[in-house]
Amino acid sequence: MTESTPRIKIAIQKSGRLSEDSLRLLKQSGLQFESSKDKLFWFGRNLPVDLLLVRDDDIPRLLLEGVCELGIVGENVAAEKLLEARKRRPDAHLDNLAALEFGYCRLMLAIPEDQEYSGPKQLDGGRVATSYPRLTRSWLRENGVEAEIVVLNGAVEIAPSLGTADAIVDLVSTGTTLRANHLKPVATVLNSQAALYRGRSRLAPERQALLDKLVQRVLGVQRAAETKYVMLHAPRDRLARISEILPGAETPTVLPLEGQPDKVAVHALCTEQVFWEHLEELKSAGASAILVLPVEKMLV
Ligand code: ATP
Ligand code: MG
Repeated sequence: MTESTPRIKIAIQKSGRLSEDSLRLLKQSGLQFESSKDKLFWFGRNLPVDLLLVRDDDIPRLLLEGVCELGIVGENVAAEKLLEARKRRPDAHLDNLAALEFGYCRLMLAIPEDQEYSGPKQLDGGRVATSYPRLTRSWLRENGVEAEIVVLNGAVEIAPSLGTADAIVDLVSTGTTLRANHLKPVATVLNSQAALYRGRSRLAPERQALLDKLVQRVLGVQRAAETKYVMLHAPRDRLARISEILPGAETPTVLPLEGQPDKVAVHALCTEQVFWEHLEELKSAGASAILVLPVEKMLV
């Protein structure tokens, strides 16, 4: 690597719910970093790809301004910040390259648990507390509701009991925090998970090629996590039925079994989740010696 090697920067959350999984994903994609003391900037050791560790709220802006080329952030934060950026730049855009299957949560409308919910219209003329004013505004508008939005950057769930709001729009994963504050979720504003985002900055061909390679690797890790290699024995005449059951398998490899002319070995790459139900179905279709193996890496 020389001084002039073009480099790519990836922004991830420094410390919080997304940090560990984001770092794991990048490490599984083959990236190694020199973690520096202040831990804000990690230099890429084996590839010209560096890491910026920041607050999750800052990631969309770093991408929009072209400071970083890639970022991992919740779809909730990306959507909110994008709406904010569009106030200034109507053409602001972020590409969601891949949903990453961690950081699952829902942005939900919640009301006091002792109240009936008759639909969004009951919020008309009321006040809704949230840290997501733009997503909330746009959801209220879609539902034809005129309500005042009270922006709070934390402890949103205590607003109703303090009398500052009639309802809240906040992130929910298990609902425990809501219950502890005598609130109940009644409508979903947004379903969210962590995603890999790309800003719109144009890159010179060499950097673009590096970025593409990196994205392919991340997608490969994602795909491998879901993919299983299934091996089984099948009666030759049940092969068609058995191939149908294998989830997400294209063309399985069929191999003869020494001394057993009526049977074959079937090897298949299943790109969709393999559940116990699938194995039970395979067995009742005549399969035996069924093995499910994890796939570590994949490049297709
Ligand atoms: P930062 O200091 O980086 O600003 P934060 O406190 O804003 O951190 P976290 O609480 O770590 O953020 O949450 C980061 C993201 O994790 C959320 O934006 C959301 O996408 C996701 N997430 C998953 N489950 C939950 C949950 N139960 N509550 C809040 N966020 C969740
Ligand atoms: Mg934050």
